[in-house]
Amino acid sequence: MIRAGLIRRSSSGMYSLLPLALRSLDKIERIIDFEMTSIGAQKLSLSILLSASTWKQTGRWKSAGSELFRLKDRKGSEYCLAPTHEEEITQLVGHEIASYRQLPLRLYQIGKKYRDEMRPRYGLLRGREFIMKDFYTFDTSEEAALRTYEEVLIAYKNIFNKIGVPFVIADADSGNIGGTKSHEFHFLSQVGEDMILTCSNCGYSANEERAYGSLPLTKQAGNGVNKKPIFNFGISKNNRLIICILGSGYVLNVFKLKAAASENSFEDIQIVNDIKDIQINNNFNEIDIYIDITFQTNLPDLELFLSNKLFDENIYKLIQSNKHIITMHHGDFHNTSPGDGCPICSMSSVSHNNPLIGHNAIEVGHTFLLGTKYSEPLKATFAPETPQNMGELRPIQMGCYGIGISRMLAAIIESSYDEHGIIWPSSVAPYRVCIIPNSDEPLIQQATRNLFDLLTSISHELNGEVLIDDRTNLSLGYRIKDSELVGYPWMMILGKRFLESGRVEIHERRTRKILDVNFDEIKNIFLT
Ligand SMILES: [Zn+2]
Repeated sequence: MIRAGLIRRSSSGMYSLLPLALRSLDKIERIIDFEMTSIGAQKLSLSILLSASTWKQTGRWKSAGSELFRLKDRKGSEYCLAPTHEEEITQLVGHEIASYRQLPLRLYQIGKKYRDEMRPRYGLLRGREFIMKDFYTFDTSEEAALRTYEEVLIAYKNIFNKIGVPFVIADADSGNIGGTKSHEFHFLSQVGEDMILTCSNCGYSANEERAYGSLPLTKQAGNGVNKKPIFNFGISKNNRLIICILGSGYVLNVFKLKAAASENSFEDIQIVNDIKDIQINNNFNEIDIYIDITFQTNLPDLELFLSNKLFDENIYKLIQSNKHIITMHHGDFHNTSPGDGCPICSMSSVSHNNPLIGHNAIEVGHTFLLGTKYSEPLKATFAPETPQNMGELRPIQMGCYGIGISRMLAAIIESSYDEHGIIWPSSVAPYRVCIIPNSDEPLIQQATRNLFDLLTSISHELNGEVLIDDRTNLSLGYRIKDSELVGYPWMMILGKRFLESGRVEIHERRTRKILDVNFDEIKNIFLT
């Protein structure tokens, strides 16, 4: 992006967007605006500098940790630079909404956000300043919020289809296959930091962090019984010792363990690899042992399990001390990896164990059904149509839906380029056509103006989309290379050939095909 003149670095993780990048960014925004408007969303603009007070109410002032840019004003009041706006919009809507008659409500904004990344990298892909579209929905019931969610998913698919880069929608809701209320939208790319697992048979796709899978026979528990298992330890907030045991070579999936643990009413767990790294408080009296399917599943009985001397001596002593209530849980707590079987296909008898394929991907969009996570602590309530008691107020059911716009710009490039430069989809190319006149010769200059007029008269879609590279002080070869680097979908050269034969040399960027077209026939390229 730097070489193509799209951005310049300002400081670590901060970039200036130059005119060409801004044109593409504006086009992405227009596509989003259109689809948001079509589902009844209204655009607003929230402050970027946010007071700490609402963040403290939701607990995120603390949990956001050092990724939050915090600052104080001259009076010592605390603020943050917004990384997201759930608190702000919930407070705003809470103040405005009193009755079910004012709902549903759909509001979105497009603006800058900030996150103090530990390691800003890959330019706009992981910057400390970024441009987001964030969209919030407010409904009276869970059912209505779910219908809204489905509607937004369709609008999101329209947005991604219009942009024209192949995308994958991944299941982002661990522990809840089928009834998911969270999805991620990804572009596939080698530099992507996410790994998406997909099934070519049924279309299942999920982020590796959240994916489930069936184990191929070669990996099933029992193989490698004598190898040392992998232990992970934790203490839950309500002070239970958690031990998770996985088969040799497997990695704990913290999301899955937390999802399973929350069913047993744990609030949060800190996970470590060595039991010495956790402060074991003497007053805990319960131990939960989570046994992954990659470890032995044929020892469900505690006695038998304990008689198996695979435990570290310290743990063994702890468990043997008989002071604690021990509960065993069996399940899938490991990271699913490429080659594991598709969880959907393995349930049907027709085609079992279709292997999952791994792809590197860049997450560019995310949808969540929030429920009352923010409306409850921030008291964003409404009077329902049929109250169950006098003066009943219910928290608003919310959803939030993001698209990382500056990241998407970088992700489009990362998933669509060749050794010559960027290959823009024409929907978001900075300009669709670049005309390169070979020289200052009057005949060429006149032809350039004629070609420009012709193109912009063909269709309103080309209006404002034709660029003339009139840097005739630079060689034709240099400008052709530059045009390919920036990636305009069409390049038209007016040179010797035009003077001799009246034909224009037209390069299509995507295919690198060169056409030799009569001036009068150029319109056919854009009308078909
Ligand atoms: Zn499948």
